[in-house]
Amino acid sequence: MADDKPFTIESFYNFVKEKKLMGGKCRSCGKLLVPPKPLCPECFSSDLTWKEIPKNGKLRTYTVIHVAPKQFQAFTPYAVGIVELEDGAQLPGMIRNVTLDKVQVGMQLTVDFDAEQTTHEWPHWPRYYFKPTHPE
Ligand SMILES: [Zn+2]
Repeated sequence: MADDKPFTIESFYNFVKEKKLMGGKCRSCGKLLVPPKPLCPECFSSDLTWKEIPKNGKLRTYTVIHVAPKQFQAFTPYAVGIVELEDGAQLPGMIRNVTLDKVQVGMQLTVDFDAEQTTHEWPHWPRYYFKPTHPE
């Protein structure tokens, strides 16, 4: 079962590889931990379970990156935002498939996954990104 995976960012990216977005859910207070952490920051419980998190949400805030780390230089300039998912969890990520002047706070975004590894730099983690839910 999924619950035997440690509640770490590595596990989170292993799920992303399977095209799943998973967070840790605290069994004691119900808080959803995205990305997962081994300890609930609300009640300090380590009694956690894996829960699939929604792939749709709303853009809360974003910033445009002009100077990127080496592995993302091919994407510059690009937008990185914090997206509030349908269950209230907030997930940071790159916003793609939209021109930068169309990126707006409040827009509906959906998580998608890179089919191929886009970087040869460490860490070799698969990537997810956000794209508009209703492309024009
Ligand atoms: Zn808790």
